[in-house]
Amino acid sequence: MKVTIVGSGYVGLVTGACFSEVGIDVVCVDIDENKISNLNKGIIPIYEPGLEDMITRNMKKGRLSFTTQIKDAVKDSEAVFISVGTPPDEDGSADLKYVIAVARDCGKHIDDYTLVITKSTVPVGTSLKVKNAVQEELDKRGVDVSFDVASNPEFLKEGAAINDFLKPDRIVVGVENERAKEILKKLYKPFTLNGHPVLFMDIVSAEMTKYAANSMLATKISFMNDIANLCEIVGADVNKVRKGIGSDTRIGNKFIYPGIGYGGSCFPKDVQALIRTGGEHNYDLQVLKAVEAVNKKQKVVLFNKILKHFNGDLEGKTITLWGLSFKPQTDDMREAPSLEIVKRLLEAGATVKAYDPIAIEEAKHHFGDTISYYKDQYEALIDADCLAILTEWPEFKFPNFNIVNRLLKNPFIFDGRNIYDRFEMKAKGFDYFCIGVDTAK
Ligand code: NAD
Repeated sequence: MKVTIVGSGYVGLVTGACFSEVGIDVVCVDIDENKISNLNKGIIPIYEPGLEDMITRNMKKGRLSFTTQIKDAVKDSEAVFISVGTPPDEDGSADLKYVIAVARDCGKHIDDYTLVITKSTVPVGTSLKVKNAVQEELDKRGVDVSFDVASNPEFLKEGAAINDFLKPDRIVVGVENERAKEILKKLYKPFTLNGHPVLFMDIVSAEMTKYAANSMLATKISFMNDIANLCEIVGADVNKVRKGIGSDTRIGNKFIYPGIGYGGSCFPKDVQALIRTGGEHNYDLQVLKAVEAVNKKQKVVLFNKILKHFNGDLEGKTITLWGLSFKPQTDDMREAPSLEIVKRLLEAGATVKAYDPIAIEEAKHHFGDTISYYKDQYEALIDADCLAILTEWPEFKFPNFNIVNRLLKNPFIFDGRNIYDRFEMKAKGFDYFCIGVDTAK
């Protein structure tokens, strides 16, 4: 069986690598010539644990290849996955121009039955647009080639993408006939042998499922951040409250950690896009509007704590940041809280030093030489006025606090991810600030 994956970003590369891992012939396509040329040399454009090994292994076996030529790739492919970006348009809706461009390319080049599957996160109704775009191109060619469309939204998490793809909680597939269903059943069979279910449904429901899932997760985060801020005001400890509510099985422990707001390439844009879809149908998604507003506010909470501790004056102060990526195990900085925090610190006249285990190269694209970068987490602390933790990388969890204390000018730690115990920090001589606990009390 041969499949084509169009769009070789996070989703496309992981999908392509994992399908080839189970023996399927995969061609990954991208319009970015530099990216494809690097991939052909074994240079992987993103950091994702396990991905590089899997790609090189399957390239060597001849099951995985990369090209910029969609024409050749789709020729004898039974299925074409569209996994290009769907960035937010100016009004917050998902920009579908890349998805539709790929659909048109399919219509221009397929000459035998093909299943065109949308894996990108797209609003309800997009598969119909994909279908129309393919058909229009076929009509222009004056050929009669049969094809179907399907929706197969992706739920992988950056940083754990390979595992998520190989052992999914579930695979959601929207189809409109048996033929499409059988192809997807066959493709996903290797991943479902251990009981991971494929949930077949209609296309509109599949498209909606992806947005509802991401919006629910974003809601949990903003809810918990809102509660954390109130905990701080009323003298409660959000870490205790979190355990208290999480032990209720109806609520559960996952995704209720307070912090400095959600980021990444998915939650912010998907929440916005769903609000927009609601608007298009004259339905006001009030909860999601609040989720977005709370998140925006939360990205500034840690900066405000730093500013307050230095009596509203950061001019000439040096702040060290540990962690820049929007979450651990990725170099992705799209919509990361660090972007907002660095901007505010620089505007306030502070000097910023930063350490991140993986995201430094990516950070340079965002901050250029406005901040300084370090390869060692301790070296970044020398002569700094305080340390702020923005990403909960495992290596930050048990640092040598004696060294931290010795290198910092002041023993001040601002923990945006609540990774330390406040009593332990106090005992070690630090002024410690975190989210959802008034540590001065
Ligand atoms: P990405 O930006 O990392 O990659 C998209 C790729 O598509 C780029 O390499 C780009 O050059 C390529 N591309 C654009 N137009 C093209 C065209 N006409 N032909 C061929 N290639 C083209 O994006 P991503 O993070 O992989 O996300 C892709 C989609 O999957 C988005 O809709 C996203 O919302 C969704 N998604 C992402 C994640 C994630 O964690 N990143 C998880 C689930 C779903």
